[in-house]
Amino acid sequence: MNLRVPRIQIAHLPTPIDPLPRLSAALGGPRLLIKRDDQTGLAFGGNKTRKLELLLAEAQANGARTLITAGATQSNHCRQTAAAAARFGFDCILVLTGQRPERVSGNLLLDHLLGAEIVWGHPAEREALLRRTFEQAWEQGRRPYLIPYGGSSPVGAAAYTLAMEELVDQIQSLPEASQPQWIVLASSSGGTQAGLTLGARVFDFRGKILGISVDQPAAALQSQVASLAEDTADFLGLHQTFAPEDILVNADYCKAGYGVMQDAEREAIHMFARLEGILLDPVYTGRAAAGLIDLVRKRFFAPTDTILFWHTGGTPALFAEQYQATLI
Ligand SMILES: *Cc1c(COP(=O)(O)O)cnc(C)c1O
Repeated sequence: MNLRVPRIQIAHLPTPIDPLPRLSAALGGPRLLIKRDDQTGLAFGGNKTRKLELLLAEAQANGARTLITAGATQSNHCRQTAAAAARFGFDCILVLTGQRPERVSGNLLLDHLLGAEIVWGHPAEREALLRRTFEQAWEQGRRPYLIPYGGSSPVGAAAYTLAMEELVDQIQSLPEASQPQWIVLASSSGGTQAGLTLGARVFDFRGKILGISVDQPAAALQSQVASLAEDTADFLGLHQTFAPEDILVNADYCKAGYGVMQDAEREAIHMFARLEGILLDPVYTGRAAAGLIDLVRKRFFAPTDTILFWHTGGTPALFAEQYQATLI
């Protein structure tokens, strides 16, 4: 299958797959691998860099001059969008919702360094504010292109269908016994999981894809991912249908709410750091890794399984002031 999608090259690909031998041994559990999408290379990297390769190609094709998107104060998506805008000569407007912090740190510091214009609003009015910001930019002749929350349009999600092709190529050289039976990842706006799920079908990846929900009940995330996977298939000219039951989601680890770091996330961050020298983030990968560790301890996976943890980035949030007191 040869998928042809307009794409500009931004990311450093393919990202490496590394074993996690000391973490696997410490858990006495199955073999663990990691896919390093925290190393996609754009201003500290992360999963949004892949999505932006396709989104910016569409923005350029539309003759856009200004990228507009939205996110939380410590949004990795906004930081990577600001970096991609700088790299390709777009203006960037970020609609940030949540508490405007007294001091600028972490991703927000980088948004400023990267030259983004920032508009603050209340989370409840995010969509309205985004629409107003877009209309205003349009009226001012700034030729805006709207990137949805998390970059999770069918165009953005299609980047993870291509990422699955990359993974399948990489693991082809591994012996059959060490091919991953599971992919575990942090899932929030669902684009990453939707793209991977479609890619698994198209490129014949036989393992299961388990999204650890960062902020939503399982049923809501499952239907969101299923419908986005279908829309992504349409965008790619593939006709595939997905039911919510086709999407594996575990929402046991998000009860504290979005961005609230607890003992489980802290333990996961410490284990990855101290056993493997790998940094996770407090919001997404820390939570997904906490889920992975708990599921290993509960013997959810077979001892002979190989599990690939897909690192989706987010590490600048480690430097956000709000986590300083609780991280160590
Ligand atoms: C955005 C993000 C995710 C979630 O990806 P979705 O495609 O929105 O589900 C996971 N990890 C990190 C670090 C992110 O920034």
